[in-house]
Amino acid sequence: SQFSQLGLGQEITSALAEQGYETPTPIQATAIPKALAGHDLLAAAQTGTGKTAAFMLPSLERLKRYANASTSPAMHPVRMLVLTPTRELADQIDQNTQNYIKNLPLRHTVLFGGVNMDKQTTDLRTGCEIVVATVGRLLDHIKQKNINLNKVEIVVLDEADRMLDMGFIDDIRQIMQMLPRPRQTLLFSATFAPAIRKLAQDFMNSPETVEV
Ligand code: AMP
Repeated sequence: SQFSQLGLGQEITSALAEQGYETPTPIQATAIPKALAGHDLLAAAQTGTGKTAAFMLPSLERLKRYANASTSPAMHPVRMLVLTPTRELADQIDQNTQNYIKNLPLRHTVLFGGVNMDKQTTDLRTGCEIVVATVGRLLDHIKQKNINLNKVEIVVLDEADRMLDMGFIDDIRQIMQMLPRPRQTLLFSATFAPAIRKLAQDFMNSPETVEV
């Protein structure tokens, strides 16, 4: 398929075929090979462009290398963190992830505020490679030591401009400082305002720009 030509393996391309995805969107065609190669990305993308798959598919392909079917929580550390501005967006990303991941032994969960923390905490204790989270609720779990970020390999800042508009800059910086290096950072934003460029300068490693 056109997705396998971008470098994605059969577990993912067959899940995409089941979803009825035939052709990569422009942002996917550009971002997927660069992300698969391990580059940091500074990507300009609006909602509806297929940006979720643009960051999730190459990440799943990379995480797949050490994926395992063990039931031990210790064998499923958090390896990918997706930060997103709203509960609705977190939920959508998590649902897309569920569809993309079905042939891989990787686990995912979603953390957002406005609901009890107990179920989220249980999921985290069970072990999840992929955590999609809103900023405030992630910090709550960090403070309660429900989540260990020492094994994170990939971090995504989704709709970064919106997160900054909502006043999360200090929280985001605090979280970024906790993450190990080296790691891959993928930043998606509708605009590259100065505050976004500063964030990229401080926390990213020679990012490649993706604009379509
Ligand atoms: P997003 O911009 O990530 O919110 O995606 C918008 C919608 O497009 C979602 O419903 C995706 O499931 C869908 N989508 C993303 N990429 C593709 C594709 N290559 N082919 C068909 N649908 C897609």
